[in-house]
Amino acid sequence: MFELNVEDEFASAHFLRKYKGKCERMHGHNYRVMVCVRAKKTDSVGLIMDFGEIKAELKKVLEVLDHHVLDELPPFKRINPSAENIAKYIFECLSKSLKRKKVRLGKVTVWETARASASYFND
Ligand SMILES: [Zn+2]
Repeated sequence: MFELNVEDEFASAHFLRKYKGKCERMHGHNYRVMVCVRAKKTDSVGLIMDFGEIKAELKKVLEVLDHHVLDELPPFKRINPSAENIAKYIFECLSKSLKRKKVRLGKVTVWETARASASYFND
């Protein structure tokens, strides 16, 4: 099995509803996102997918989130924009755009800080 990893980042504000603690107040993060794509075989060039292609797909998804209050965006009006839910949202958006490719989306990881991340994947 082959695996490609691509990273990008975005900056946004959020707060957590139904949560008691400092994260109930609005604050911002420079989120780092890593997308992992898997495939069993490479093509004749030796690639499972062009890095540029994954980067472009990820960028499209992150542009929707960048420089917003995440709680005000449709995907997070009912559920909290926790790192877990952001990872799941990005995973679902990318799953749709990668459906036509011969690769499988393996995992999406979202870092809120350099030392704290959450991942979403299909088991
Ligand atoms: Zn936060």
